[in-house]
Amino acid sequence: MKTAKSEQLYKTACGFMPGGVNSPVRACKAVGTVPLFIDHAKGSRIWDEDGNEFIDYVCSWGPNILGHCCEPVINAVKAACDKGLTFGACHKGEITLAELIKKHFPSMEMLRLVNSGTEAVMSAIRAARGFTGRDKIIKFEGCYHGHSDGLLVKAGSGLMTQAIPSGAGVTEGCTKDTLLAKYNDTASVEKLYRPYFYRVYNWEKLFEEYGSEIAALIVEPCAANMGVVPPEKGFLEFLREITKKHGTVLIFDEVITGFRLSEGGASKYFGVTPDMTTLGKIVGGGMPLACYGGKLEIMQCVAPLGSVYQAGTLSGNPCAVAAGIETIRQIESIPNFYEELDKKSAMIENAIREKGLNVNRCGSLMTVFFNDERVKSYDEARACDTESYGRYYRHMLQSGIYTAPSQFEAMFVSYAHSDEDITKTIDAIKAYR
Ligand code: PMP
Repeated sequence: MKTAKSEQLYKTACGFMPGGVNSPVRACKAVGTVPLFIDHAKGSRIWDEDGNEFIDYVCSWGPNILGHCCEPVINAVKAACDKGLTFGACHKGEITLAELIKKHFPSMEMLRLVNSGTEAVMSAIRAARGFTGRDKIIKFEGCYHGHSDGLLVKAGSGLMTQAIPSGAGVTEGCTKDTLLAKYNDTASVEKLYRPYFYRVYNWEKLFEEYGSEIAALIVEPCAANMGVVPPEKGFLEFLREITKKHGTVLIFDEVITGFRLSEGGASKYFGVTPDMTTLGKIVGGGMPLACYGGKLEIMQCVAPLGSVYQAGTLSGNPCAVAAGIETIRQIESIPNFYEELDKKSAMIENAIREKGLNVNRCGSLMTVFFNDERVKSYDEARACDTESYGRYYRHMLQSGIYTAPSQFEAMFVSYAHSDEDITKTIDAIKAYR
């Protein structure tokens, strides 16, 4: 595999951008390779600047569920571009997309289009705080909700009510209202724990004691940012129940799972309805678009109806909206879309299992974990052998398979992955030593 051009470009890029990248995971530091510079993509395949061809299971981290360059989507965007890149004013497409989203996510009684998952989550939390008049929020260790300050709190790295931010540049003030709980651990939700320094955990006050102060509980209904970790049976139902009891807004962050696990996302897949939902990635069809929404009485708090301020110059951008509309329409028009995706994904899952490797799969999301036990929590995910993952990644890459350059990300299967692609992928897995 030739990498001379990517290496040269990476060197040049490092002089302009931190680590040569515009988003950290792209630097491939965790797997010990140089980042590949991509030239173009089509269907299930991507080609880098050195002319290498790969079967792509990153799929831009989720948006490309139809594969790359899906013709009707590209044509819709081209047509939108011809009418103007941005107006900063209302246009019909916004209504069409909102209608399509609401049709599949009926609990999003009212919604707002924004530009990124980060913005969607940040805005949803602000709306939940405005609605409840409360300050605190609960998030789970290992769940990622974008890079807004209050959500950059990682496992084991901070106090609970005054969580120490896990990244520099985030003040304690920004994270003091972020409470941490453990994914798939209902007791940790009731008994919010305080991770002290040196990982001595001290179980603190019960949810009952904090309940009246908690504006929102946000969760990835199927975690996919610590590797794929599906919810254990009853976990989401428990979250629904306890938040309802305490008047806390339950937010499902479906930036990854929305239109991925089903056309109604994880909410439909698991049969649990949140108060608010955030969507990104697929809903923008590969363009910068995301959205948040939920119960009418919450969304009516958002400006100009209410006093929760949130705005955006490019929000509802006509070209991004066109990509979102066409992507959803394509998904709707393909018979047995999710069943097909599930079948392809199950074949890959089986090959990984037959190899004796550990894998978590939920629909078309999956992660190979290098440990012996089924991974159910952040602690278990963190305990995995990341060196071995790096070796696996490099083997797959050499075999022409481009997969997540980190143990803690998901593999995304798309509708464009053909039987031939799946067979090649399975052969590469079989050849791993
Ligand atoms: N929420 C979840 C669950 C995500 O996976 C991500 C990004 N991977 C985000 C929010 C942030 O989205 P964005 O990168 O578009 O800001």
